[in-house]
Amino acid sequence: MGTYTIRLFGDPVLRQRAPEVTDIDGDLARLVDTMIATMHEARGVGLAAPQVGVQKRLYTYDVGDDPGVIINPEIVESSGEWVYDEGCLSVPGFSFEIVRPKVVTVRGIDLDGNEVVLEGDELMGRLIQHEIDHLDGVLLLDRLDDETRKAAMRELRQLVLDGTLSATTAEDGGRRL
Ligand code: ZN
Repeated sequence: MGTYTIRLFGDPVLRQRAPEVTDIDGDLARLVDTMIATMHEARGVGLAAPQVGVQKRLYTYDVGDDPGVIINPEIVESSGEWVYDEGCLSVPGFSFEIVRPKVVTVRGIDLDGNEVVLEGDELMGRLIQHEIDHLDGVLLLDRLDDETRKAAMRELRQLVLDGTLSATTAEDGGRRL
């Protein structure tokens, strides 16, 4: 099985809202398998479909137990606050301390078409929020204060211009989303 190329900052596909999945079929199952392989190869813990150029509302995850997928995910509950040094496979080489709710409950469907409700704490909670942001065309940069965001964007745009923003340059512990 092959893997996808992970789309990086500057790619317009990362800035669009992905539409809901309407058909759960063999093609979708193959997409999910390939996304999981891509996520593992990149040593990420979460991957949203737009990050591989596919405009569908779903993400894969693996925080060390078993890989899984949530299709058409929605956050139905969130609580607390948690600071995490958040990194993104599509923004390689950068990470930012971002505060978000600590515990979130996500509702979606699995590959059999059954409803899934999953409560995520800490890393899993962060992953759910980060991946749903991707499905809405939102990047972690948008969660930063103005000054930090502007500085990061300046640096990123320069890397894109120089052609040196690359998925292979990031070696930050493999907890990217
Ligand atoms: Zn990401």
